[in-house]
Amino acid sequence: MKNRFEGKVAIVTGGASGIGKATVKIFIEEGAKVTVADMDEAGLKAMKDQYGDAVLTIKVDVSSEEDVKKMVEDTVTAFGRLDILHNNAGIGGFALIPDMKLEDWRKVFAIDADGVFLGCKYAIPVMKKQGGGSIVNTASISGLGADYAMASYNAAKAAVINLTRIVANDHGPDKIRCNAVCPGPIETPLLKAALTDDILQAYHDAIPAGRVGKPEEIATVVAFLASDESSYVNGTTIVADGGLMAKTGQPP
Ligand code: NAD
Repeated sequence: MKNRFEGKVAIVTGGASGIGKATVKIFIEEGAKVTVADMDEAGLKAMKDQYGDAVLTIKVDVSSEEDVKKMVEDTVTAFGRLDILHNNAGIGGFALIPDMKLEDWRKVFAIDADGVFLGCKYAIPVMKKQGGGSIVNTASISGLGADYAMASYNAAKAAVINLTRIVANDHGPDKIRCNAVCPGPIETPLLKAALTDDILQAYHDAIPAGRVGKPEEIATVVAFLASDESSYVNGTTIVADGGLMAKTGQPP
């Protein structure tokens, strides 16, 4: 068992489900105190029941500046510091552009892109004052390519990838590292809600690994980027997609 997060304090947004929940587990198992920030009250209660004093659970809408400011303040009040921010909360959005309502486009951007901006806005000053920190953003391979009829999601995740570089460039001198993980299809409630059995089968056929991923297979990447093991990694994105992005599309 490693002890990479002994004495560290982390925030995980969207931490009550899927990738965030798997990340919280690693952080806690390796010694961190964690703020689990999510909209899902039942999910938050389950995390509190499971982890007790090791977690602070807060209902947060990452698209609300007031909520995100309070999330950072409450974390510092409860645990005394902030070393790691995992900006992970996200939602999908599905429609071809001519059919997409502006309000639906904006909702995806508000959560998937503004949420990351707001997390960085309030965490950076705390980390800077402390002498450093590590921010890990959950982007997506959808930010590197184009998923069908997902314009808002693809564009918002591309924004997250470049925001990651911007934070690394602007705040590297403050000893703050910022990296992103780009998951491929991962077996979480978000994916299950979005896909039919036929599309899931098509993914299984297309992915060189022959299957979609598990949340734990992304959480291990997040933990590496959050930890001092990646001390010289800054401003980059790590793709974890079972080899899907390695394909050119040429038929076998
Ligand atoms: P999930 O649905 O299991 O978890 C997402 C969590 O975010 C939920 O607990 C939900 O309540 C929370 N959330 C949603 N909106 C929120 C808001 N406004 N404020 C706070 N919390 C909010 O999904 P997941 O697959 O674990 O997704 C986590 C991240 O991974 C997302 O950013 C998603 O875009 C990204 N991602 C997922 C996949 C995939 O295939 N599952 C692939 C690439 C990227």
